Amino acid sequence: MSRRTSERVNSIRPSGIRRFFDLIAGRRDVISLGVGEPDFQVPWRIRDEMIYSLERGYTSYTSNKGLKELREAIAEYYRKFGVDTSSENVIVTTGVSEGIDIAMRSILNLGDTVLIPEPAYVSYKPLAFLAGGEVVAISTAPDFRLNYDKLIRYARKFCPKVIVINYPNNPTGITYSKKELEEIADIAVEFDMIVISDEIYAELTYSGRHISIASLNGMEDRTIVLNGFSKAFAMTGLRIGYAIAPDDIIDAMLKIHQYCMLCAPIVSQIGAIEALKNCEEELERMRAVYIRRRNFFVKRLRKMFEVIMPEGAFYAFPSIRNTGLSSEDFAERLLIEKRVAVVPGNAFGDCGEGYVRCSYALDIERLKEALDRIEDFVKSVQ
Ligand code: PLP
Repeated sequence: MSRRTSERVNSIRPSGIRRFFDLIAGRRDVISLGVGEPDFQVPWRIRDEMIYSLERGYTSYTSNKGLKELREAIAEYYRKFGVDTSSENVIVTTGVSEGIDIAMRSILNLGDTVLIPEPAYVSYKPLAFLAGGEVVAISTAPDFRLNYDKLIRYARKFCPKVIVINYPNNPTGITYSKKELEEIADIAVEFDMIVISDEIYAELTYSGRHISIASLNGMEDRTIVLNGFSKAFAMTGLRIGYAIAPDDIIDAMLKIHQYCMLCAPIVSQIGAIEALKNCEEELERMRAVYIRRRNFFVKRLRKMFEVIMPEGAFYAFPSIRNTGLSSEDFAERLLIEKRVAVVPGNAFGDCGEGYVRCSYALDIERLKEALDRIEDFVKSVQ
């Protein structure tokens, strides 16, 4: 550990997902269920718009907040999830990753408590910590739902300033019903909490309709919605997302964004306008493919493990306890012995121990081959 680098940075661990990326880098014989990335290409009409924009020489900065046309399109689009907002309350970010960072930095004072229901996406905890927050994790295992009684106990005990929710969830695939969201909202109002709601998988909701918690009574004024184009539109490498927040918070986020990022890439912003305005059909098509893959994948996984049916995103989170292996041993041995990459569940928090995350964003043939190999592996350890 370097003495020249900050104590805070020294005390965070590198992402457990990255470690597995590095293990398989350059290995062609590995089937990766490890990466949280769509296997689709960006829809052609989005790529066309971006190509034209380069041909027309759109290579400049934009305003810090992002192109007005895009912010208007985002405000309009979010009506679909029940939120009535204006382009003034939107910042275009370089992915949800930046959104999480500037959200945390704009609202946390040193020592403020941030509640994180786990298992959770890997960025929340370190970014809250780097912004000075004290993270308190709530285990949602084994059903992975955010239980009202538990949440209120934590709220009473820790008086948190912030709670981070993510639904559909990475890594569990769980999403929340309106009733569950109302319960979370009631507690947020009662304890005067700010909700950071990461809705990056909203379009990949397979049971019912996605509802933004910001659309519930009283929540618009205490919610920072984060969303982006990486998952729904397969635009991961284009680094584009957005935040929707109340006036005071959006102003604070903008102060940080203008110094650390200046603006999101203009070409990606132009692609994002096309995505929101004209890609409903492509979305439908990709969603239908994910549903087919989920059904196929989970049905076969269930012959080996206990798995909750994912309601969204593109992950399954089976319990591998029946193998007697720890999450890390399971993932490492599966990779070395059968060349299938999954992510150990403890990368998403302590309560993820005993589980692994499998991404099913792969074609059915590859999924089938991966499942055959996992089956061989399970037989060999039993
Ligand atoms: N939030 C969640 C829940 C994710 O799963 C991911 C990526 O896997 C991100 C945020 C990061 O998204 P982006 O590519 O927009 O930075």
